[in-house]
Amino acid sequence: MIEVKNLQKVYQNGDIKVPALKNVSLTVKEGEFVAIMGSSGSGKSTFMNILGCLDKPTSGEYLLDGIPIQDRNEEELSDIRNLKIGFVFQSFNLIPRTSSLKNVELPLLYARKNQNDRRKKAISILEKVGLKERIHHMPNELSGGQRQRVAIARALANEPPLILADEPTGNLDSKSGDEVMEIFKKLNDEGVTIILVTHEPEIAQHCKRIVAFKDGVLIKDELVKNRL
Ligand code: ADP
Ligand code: ADP
Repeated sequence: MIEVKNLQKVYQNGDIKVPALKNVSLTVKEGEFVAIMGSSGSGKSTFMNILGCLDKPTSGEYLLDGIPIQDRNEEELSDIRNLKIGFVFQSFNLIPRTSSLKNVELPLLYARKNQNDRRKKAISILEKVGLKERIHHMPNELSGGQRQRVAIARALANEPPLILADEPTGNLDSKSGDEVMEIFKKLNDEGVTIILVTHEPEIAQHCKRIVAFKDGVLIKDELVKNRL
């Protein structure tokens, strides 16, 4: 599903060149569940932004489902994101003063689904993440864990084959974090490929594979033993 070869990213900071990714190669097959680890500044966000087609590498190759991303224009990249990728963030990024239901319906509106289909689909996904009783609540009426589950439901609205999650449990207590990881595991069991950034070894232990970066270099790539 993902094939990255000799990826380099260099940021230009005034006169200074900042190498953020150095010669990174990685293959992720459909159905994998990968944790990305590494200390602050190691290149994790840069890598995720490239995987998410939000940014382009300075050099190297990125194939998503066989499509070479470096050759696509902005409009094509936007279509690829909408069709193939669900994004989940540390800070949830829900629309305030807007119900769970409306938050989840939004990507379906962008996908030009009619109102009836939008509502049905949004309700069924919110049920799936255990929020049947919270569909009319506003984000500020929900706990952090519940907000993240709304955000996951929103990411799933258009049934993307790939979920990219940047520190999805970073703002949650450990119980809510585990609940979120259980949802990811269920999705992964259903065939969704998941790539997730985390600082927490315990969260990474729920995944099937751990990849780590240090100073822009991929320094570790291991299968998880004794998975939680
Ligand atoms: P992480 O997500 O692991 O904290 P980042 O990918 O954000 O790491 O950063 C990797 C390196 O690139 C760091 O040295 C960071 O300072 C630098 N960097 C990130 N974004 C930019 C940018 N927009 N401009 C210049 N340097 C950047
Ligand atoms: P953090 O995980 O540190 O809270 P964010 O999740 O807010 O950071 O943002 C991570 C990256 O994703 C940023 O580069 C941002 O521009 C991008 N981004 C934020 N919201 C969206 C969105 N709804 N769709 C696509 N990209 C987004």
